[in-house]
Amino acid sequence: MLYNTEENCNKNILIENRDTSKAKRQHDIDTSSCCKYTQPGNSTERLCTFHGCRVVIGNQIKNVVHLVHSPIGCAYYSWDYRSQSYGYGFTTGIQERDIIFDSEEKLYDAILKASEEFNPDAIFVYETCIPGLIGNDLQGITKKASEEIEIPVIYFDCAGFKGATQNEGHKIANRQLFEIIGNGKEEFHSTPYDVNVIGGGSSVKEAKIIENMLSKIGIRVLCSFTDNATIDKIRVMDRAKINIVHCTKSSMYLAKMMYKEYGIPYIKGNFFGIENCSMSLRNIGKALNIDKDKIENFIAENLERIKEKLELYRENLKGKRVFISHGAQRVLNYIDPLKNDLNMDIAGVATYFGNEKNYKEILKKIPKETVVLDNPNSYELERAIVESNADVVISDNHIRYLVHKLGVPFVYGRGGKKSYIGFDGFINFADEVHGAINSKIWKLLNN
Ligand code: SF4
Repeated sequence: MLYNTEENCNKNILIENRDTSKAKRQHDIDTSSCCKYTQPGNSTERLCTFHGCRVVIGNQIKNVVHLVHSPIGCAYYSWDYRSQSYGYGFTTGIQERDIIFDSEEKLYDAILKASEEFNPDAIFVYETCIPGLIGNDLQGITKKASEEIEIPVIYFDCAGFKGATQNEGHKIANRQLFEIIGNGKEEFHSTPYDVNVIGGGSSVKEAKIIENMLSKIGIRVLCSFTDNATIDKIRVMDRAKINIVHCTKSSMYLAKMMYKEYGIPYIKGNFFGIENCSMSLRNIGKALNIDKDKIENFIAENLERIKEKLELYRENLKGKRVFISHGAQRVLNYIDPLKNDLNMDIAGVATYFGNEKNYKEILKKIPKETVVLDNPNSYELERAIVESNADVVISDNHIRYLVHKLGVPFVYGRGGKKSYIGFDGFINFADEVHGAINSKIWKLLNN
């Protein structure tokens, strides 16, 4: 189906699984039709509820065994996708006979074995479609196992079919991990400048850069949830003065639950891009009553250090066209820095699980002729990239080779060896984009 967006706009294009050339002729876009279940038989880039729970939120927590109660296939798309995972990952490898004769004992034994072998702080048990459909009592098994091994065994009821997108998995993970908060040790000493950064979504390296940057203006990060999290760090999150929500899509639920239960206010923070980073530091400083001059001096020092390089990239990238394909929040975080900090033009946008609100926000930020794809498959994505005349595509790694085959430069949007977060990180990002566009390989390939 094809949907147009804002009432007064007849040129923005939002399409779901459709041909982009036809999409350009449509007028009445309706964003309420986004974020619906993908139709059976329609292969798209979208990921399931289990993925949102385990890969986006759970995986990053250190010294935890992640036990996926599933056939081997569900566990495939995990470690290679987010390489910065610090737990131990296993699947119970359910087979046909387990479905017929029961797999509960297999899971129970696996929990006990994992505890014995790895001595973890906790074991996370993830439900997938098969145990969800046959009705395994994972709640009962995990409770019994937890009593036996005397560490938390947390059950995530995140079977892939439980939501239209991975977003439901974020909520499930947030709800379950919320139960750990508030169980920290009594002797913990709070300061007036304690915060949590929640919903980072990239890597422990990025979390450490944010923690380090905030420490320079006197702020202590109790927990970077979950990029640099441990069970003990999650336990003391209730001692923070504010929550800084970095990715609203994956963790706003947690911030809202913490506000309701512990009265901890939350503010949005975005450390990608020069303007975003400066603005976020000002807002955090204000929320914690930190001396304004201290914040402004810190920002000025950083701007001075990167000034020359930034100006060079702004000149060289001016007018270059960029196609962004990511989760909706990351797309939103990237548009302004690409436009305002780097002088680039937005050629197109694709997201896999954006909702109506996300798309309305995206459409306000981009030119009216820009193609926006909701939940595209590979063919639709390929066609949109070609038609958009993009000079570079920024995305997750799973479409890297599709883009390379089109002869279009590609940048991995989460950063590889170098981080893209903070002031220096943004220079790394600009350097990566500049290098990708100007690589001689594209000229050789396209001649
Ligand atoms: S949980 Fe379900 S939808 Fe997700 S990978 Fe496993 S079988 Fe597929």
